[in-house]
Parts: sequence; C-alpha cells; structure tokens
Amino acid sequence: MARVDLDGNVINPMTICMIGAGGFIGSHLCEKLMSETPHTVLAVDVYNDKIKHLLEPDSLPWNGRIQFHRLNIKNDSRLEGLIKCSDLTINLAAICTPADYNTRPLDTIYSNFIDALPVVKYCSENNKRLIHFSTCEVYGKTIGSFLPKDSPLRQDPAYYILKEDTSPCIFGSVEKQRWSYACAKQLIERLIYAEGAENGLEFTIVRPFNWIGPRMDFIPGIDGPSEGVPRVLACFSNNLLRREPLKLVDGGESQRTFIYIKDAIEAVLLMIENPARASGHIFNVGNPNNEVTVRQLAEMMTQVYSKVSGEDSIETPTIDVSSKEFYGEGYDDSDKRIPDMTIINKQLGWNPKTSLWDLLESTLTYQHRTYAEAIKQAIAKPSAN
Ligand code: NAD
Ligand code: UDP
Repeated sequence: MARVDLDGNVINPMTICMIGAGGFIGSHLCEKLMSETPHTVLAVDVYNDKIKHLLEPDSLPWNGRIQFHRLNIKNDSRLEGLIKCSDLTINLAAICTPADYNTRPLDTIYSNFIDALPVVKYCSENNKRLIHFSTCEVYGKTIGSFLPKDSPLRQDPAYYILKEDTSPCIFGSVEKQRWSYACAKQLIERLIYAEGAENGLEFTIVRPFNWIGPRMDFIPGIDGPSEGVPRVLACFSNNLLRREPLKLVDGGESQRTFIYIKDAIEAVLLMIENPARASGHIFNVGNPNNEVTVRQLAEMMTQVYSKVSGEDSIETPTIDVSSKEFYGEGYDDSDKRIPDMTIINKQLGWNPKTSLWDLLESTLTYQHRTYAEAIKQAIAKPSAN
C-alpha cells in the first residue's frame, strides 16, 4: 500500500540532506527513515560512529538509500550542492552540551548561529524546505521564577507553561555565559522566521524538550574524553556504571520534562511527511507528563539501574555539588520546562506515549549492555599497572 500523509495524499519518496546525522537525534531519525519509509538520506557529519550500523554491510535492505558525507559545514563548498540536490534539508548540527556554553562560548555561538547561516541561505536561495533544530532553551527561565518563593501564582500554569507563540524568551545577564547557546539559537530562529516572511522560505522550527535515549552523548573515558561533561542522562549513567554517587548540581532542584527519543522521532517524521501542516510553524516537542526535579530523576535512575543491572545501589547514591564547581564560572539554569502541546496537537495530531520509568528502563538496559564490561576493564586497568 502507498504511504499517505495525514490528509490522505500519497507521499512521494524524497531526498533529505540531514546535517548532523551522525549525532544522537540524527542516528535515530536515520534509523526510522531507513526502516519505515522509502526516502533517501544524504547524511552529513564529521563523525559516523552512531550510524555505522546503517551504512554497513552492503546487504542491508536500505542499501543505496543512505549515503554518508564526511564534511564540516564550517568550511566545505560541497554543502550547497548537497542541499540543491535534496528536496528537504534538516539541520541538527550544533554544539549542544551545557558544559560548553559557559566554557566555550565562542564555539557555541559560532556553531549555533554563524555556521547555520549558509544552510538557511542555500535553502532560501534554492527554494528548498528546511527543518531546523532549535531548543526549548530559547524560553530561558519561566516568568514564575521571578515571583516570591511563596507566591501562589507560581502554581498558576500561566506563569510556567511554555507556548511557542506567546511565551517570552527570558535569559540571564551577559556575564552568565550559559545563555550564549539559547541566544544564538533564538537569533537563528528569528532569521529563519524572517526568511519565511520576506523571501518565502518554507521552514519548520523544532524545539526539543530533553529528548533522551540510547546513543545520547558519550560515557567519559569510554567513548568520549575522560574529563568531558555530557548531558544529565550520560552523566548519571556514567556514575551508575562506575558505582559513584550521582552529582546534584545546586541541590538538583531544577525541573525538566523528559521524552523518549522514539516518541519524539515520530513527531519529526510527521513534520517531514506533512509539509502543508508543518511549514511556517515552530513546534515544542516534549512530554509534559514526565516532569521531575533533577533529584527525582537521580533517584529514579538509581532504582531503575539497580533493577536492570541486578546490583544493589551504593550507600550514598547522590551528593550535592555547586554549579561553579561542576560547570565553572558563568553557569546558570532553566528552572522549569513544561511544553504547551496545543500547536503540535492541532497541526499533526501527535502525542508522546512513553512514561519516564519505561523510557529509563529501556535506556539504562542499553547503557548497561553497551558499557558495563568496558567500565569494568577501565577500572581494573590502573591497578594492574
Ligand atoms: P549531538 O551532539 O548528538 O548531534 C549533533 C551532531 O552535529 C554531531 O554528530 C556533530 O558531530 C554534528 N556537527 C556539529 N557541528 C558540525 C559541523 N560543523 N559540521 C558537521 N557536523 C557537525 O546532539 P543532538 O542531541 O542529536 O541534537 C541535535 C540538535 O537538536 C541540536 O541542534 C541541538 O541543539 C538540538 N536539541 C537537542 C536536544 C535534545 O534533547 N537532545 C534538546 C534541545 C535541542
Ligand atoms: N545536572 C546535574 N548533574 C549532572 C548533570 C546535570 O545535576 O551530573 C543538572 C543540570 O544542572 C541541569 C539538569 O541536570 O539542571 C539538566 O542538564 P542537561 O545537561 O541534561 O541539560 P539542560 O536540560 O540543562 O539543557
């Protein structure tokens, strides 16, 4: 049977130029496109470790529908050609780990704004559709965070729910370099929006709210630098694998909503295949039902990891650490992130499905299976010398 879109129209196979295809989200999107659709992917990245299983061997059923192009979009003239011969460009490339925002603010701003400029320009000039990955962090802090701690208004959703078309973007001072990422993402969103308004660029902007799952980031000292600081899922996974306490930054009081990567990818596929419903929109993609404080996340991950590994948890499962000690000068935090789902619901009829417990169970099963043995060996090595 032919694939049809949400309005019953036949979906024709398309060629997608996916920039940042070798990353966490890109790897899951490539997997989905290969296994469930007839579309072709020109996968652009500087790394391909996370999509190697899709590129080899030649006998894979989608052989020929995915091609890897190793290139750095900062300085490679092949980029325009790849965008020109595609129907759609998806830009995922970015520096997007908070530990970099205050310690490498220039790289962060260049990566999230300057390096994305040619992608937007080539799409606009060649009349190509663009799906650009922004972030929920463009909302910054909630309005409610500025109210007195005991104000009853803090309980009113009007003061914390984040809506694409009405919520303001509230960042800390310039000295708080944490916001260099959010600010760069906000400016590229505004540029894309303006290209749409003034030059007719057909665009969709995605604001992911803490998508997590297998292959996210790296485990320090195993498949990434020993001193590297990935996002919270990988930090906590690393601590659990090494039987160390999980570090709660500034008490772990910040709140996040976590969504399973596989639920989120369903939303992206709907955007890809329903351009008439997705174009011109900014979409929150998150799971408002999965809200926890970072402390609660740590407690739940400890419980789940104990279940999947069969090991008891350690005596002191968490310790508090100051943000200055953990991230250095210039760190700041988003207090609370609950996405409003009205627009994505109305346009694409999409809803997330997986509970936090279930998504942690499948993710930590993967982490244990992938890393437990390597960690054991890494821990054993120094004492062997
Ligand atoms: P990721 O770091 O795993 O993937 C980004 C990929 O882009 C990497 O493979 C990297 O090598 C590649 N890349 C970076 N600069 C490049 C360049 N100059 N040339 C070629 N390739 C380059 O991150 P992710 O979690 O997959 O995020 C993808 C996008 O989604 C980013 O734009 C990020 O800001 C956004 N986002 C993700 C989340 C989330 O929850 N995962 C949340 C908010 C925003
Ligand atoms: N965090 C923490 N311990 C860690 C890593 C992160 O307490 O080992 C906190 C961090 O301060 C933030 C939250 O976890 O409040 C989520 O951090 P992440 O890096 O995943 O990205 P963010 O959601 O801030 O973009």
